[in-house]
Amino acid sequence: MSQQDFQLSGFGSAAVHAGHEKDPRNAHVTPIYATSTYLFDTAEQGMRRFSGAEEGYIYSRWGNPTFTEAEQKIAALETFGLKMEAKGILHASGMAAIATLMLGVLKPGDKILTHYSLYGGTEELIHKVLTGVGITPIIADLRNPQLAEDALKTDPAIRMVYLETPANPTLQCVDLEVLIGLAKQYGKLVACDNTFATPYLQQPFKFGADFIVHSTTKFLNGHGTAIGGALIGRDIELMKTAVTKTHRLLGGNANPFDAFLLINGMKTLEVRMDRHCSNAQQVAEFLEGHQAVGRVNYTGLPSHPDFALAQKQMRAAGGMLSFELKDGFNAGVAFMNKLQMCLRTVSLGTCDTLLCHPPSMTHYSVPLEQREQYGITDGLIRMNVGIENIQDILADLEQALA
Ligand SMILES: *Cc1c(COP(=O)(O)O)cnc(C)c1O
Repeated sequence: MSQQDFQLSGFGSAAVHAGHEKDPRNAHVTPIYATSTYLFDTAEQGMRRFSGAEEGYIYSRWGNPTFTEAEQKIAALETFGLKMEAKGILHASGMAAIATLMLGVLKPGDKILTHYSLYGGTEELIHKVLTGVGITPIIADLRNPQLAEDALKTDPAIRMVYLETPANPTLQCVDLEVLIGLAKQYGKLVACDNTFATPYLQQPFKFGADFIVHSTTKFLNGHGTAIGGALIGRDIELMKTAVTKTHRLLGGNANPFDAFLLINGMKTLEVRMDRHCSNAQQVAEFLEGHQAVGRVNYTGLPSHPDFALAQKQMRAAGGMLSFELKDGFNAGVAFMNKLQMCLRTVSLGTCDTLLCHPPSMTHYSVPLEQREQYGITDGLIRMNVGIENIQDILADLEQALA
């Protein structure tokens, strides 16, 4: 059996090995190809490259060997165990990947059907940029699939259904199987932001999604060392034509150093996620039993409205949770100030435990009535549970809550 024919049977093995191409100089780890352009051996070769008759690199906005490895690894993980192929395109950020998706696939007059609680940047992109080019959103509470069916049935201009699950800050989920099934029944495209779950915990392609987007900044990189994004598509032809064209012309390409950090971060995805999930479960249970804490939003708790749904479509509940301090805004500020090991910051997906208090930070300027619609009450704390030893995380929380 040749090395190419060896089938990796475990996700963790794929995370380590998938997407790798043997280096021509036998470097073990794929090098950082810090080059903007690539040489042609002859004028004829240049001609063949530009005409598409020969595959190969031309210019790093269009492609780069370090990007290729990251792209192939993400695509391999999102299709792991599924009988399908997909093509990934690495981007400078999650937002760049989402912009390529929207502008590469939709045209003026098209509508997007989506739900509340999208990532803030995505929501703003839809409302402030896409509406300007004639692409309009329909926002509905898609936790109720009947609302999706009503919209799909009555509005033929809907071209894409855009989902994000689980979503900020209450970890609300939408049903991938049901919503993608409905969208397909009406002939629509479906895209899913899989940033919070990662392909280890959830594979939207399994339910028939056409596109997956990631902020690789988060769990895929895993160490908080680089901003990045990926767009992965099931229709290889569409990915190679309209989507690649849009990506190259918008110029939201990745850079080789960040791609290198991402490749190496992704190798440990499975072991990191297992630890994130088991730590988060224990933190959620601890918080739920604490007298200073009201609601705990974690889909691994039976008290979460989407507990059963998360069990159906995810391997485990993930590393993110949020909770409400009973004593409100000032209690939130005091708690944040008392943290010793856990870190005060936004973002997520890192080995370190990160906490933020949205009412005094990201949502400080949003009026209370408005942010409460998103579940951002005065005492809400959002937590990325890291991979430290659980007793240290619990001890820090306990002393900060005291
Ligand atoms: C962070 C994030 C994004 C945006 O990604 P950037 O890399 O910051 O551009 C999109 N979706 C989700 C769910 C995110 O958490």
